[in-house]
Amino acid sequence: MLKTFPDKVPLFLTFFIMVALSAFLGGIYSAFFTTAVISLETYLILNYFTKNELDLTSLTQIAFFAVCSAIIIYLFHLASKNDELKKLRGQENKYARAFIELHDDYASAIRDIKARDEFLSMVSHELRTPLTIMLLNLHNMSISIHSVSLANFSIPKLMKVLKNSEDQIKWLTSMINDLLDISLITTGRMSLTLEDTDLVGLTKQIKESFSETLKKENYKIKIHSDNPVVGKWDRERLEQVITNLLSNAIKYGRGNPIEIKIFKSGDNGIFTIKDGGEGISLQDQELIFELFKRAPDQGGYKKGLGVGLFVASQIIKMHGGKIKVSSALKKGSSFTVELPVNKH
Ligand code: ADP
Repeated sequence: MLKTFPDKVPLFLTFFIMVALSAFLGGIYSAFFTTAVISLETYLILNYFTKNELDLTSLTQIAFFAVCSAIIIYLFHLASKNDELKKLRGQENKYARAFIELHDDYASAIRDIKARDEFLSMVSHELRTPLTIMLLNLHNMSISIHSVSLANFSIPKLMKVLKNSEDQIKWLTSMINDLLDISLITTGRMSLTLEDTDLVGLTKQIKESFSETLKKENYKIKIHSDNPVVGKWDRERLEQVITNLLSNAIKYGRGNPIEIKIFKSGDNGIFTIKDGGEGISLQDQELIFELFKRAPDQGGYKKGLGVGLFVASQIIKMHGGKIKVSSALKKGSSFTVELPVNKH
């Protein structure tokens, strides 16, 4: 072999490079094939073309080449396994992250489904109660009229039934409107009709609409204001926000005076409403703007779905504004709404 290939070292190196390239490009089987071809070729060149006798040294050199090639192939195999392992580890991490995300999504979906089921059961209960009351009232009245029992039938009694039914219908209507608003918000279909709106005039008008309740529950409401505070706002939606804040102040205010301040600060119209009622714990203050979330009642059940503040906060957000609460248990609550006079 030495006689045929006098400078055998570069040749061996070339062979090894070929084997290594085959291992790198084609994998171990192609590298073994290359080794076999090179060994065979060397053997054939020595035997047939150069007509040299195959001595032990040449055979040893072919064997040495084959063994070295096998080692090179094995090392390539190990290296590629290592790469694969790294790739697999990378994938494992990716799948682990995806699994955690999926698990979180699943947990949040379960929470949402539970909240929806609780909401549905609460809504069906709330919808059924006024209907049952109205049905009962109508039933009693019709029995009285049918039996022409004048002892049981009187105009004041009829007026009481009608008033009660009117209240129940108002409650039903407000609940249905809340449900419609939720659907508009969650499907992104709520839109604003912006027009010059005076926050002070609007608040005074809303206070007027509450006059009967305020008188009945002996509430005092004071409005301090710059006059007027005008901005490009959706009048009807703002009416909804203020009505919700005022009715909450009445509902949770324990009969203590309510104070409203309206003024301009820079480019914002500011509306604050402060009651001296039951207040909200710090922990619950973070929840009450979420859908269907209510703070625990502080003495006595208060009717509500936990929808009003969610809808209000979404309306304010759509105006580019903010709403925040500051409160302490049994020390009353103060809600502040900040509205840019020109929606950005
Ligand atoms: P609800 O119909 O339950 O009143 P809201 O979304 O308007 O729904 O309010 C969410 C919750 O925030 C209420 O259930 C109540 O626990 C709390 N809350 C709102 N306003 C006040 C307030 N002025 N004082 C005390 N708690 C309040």
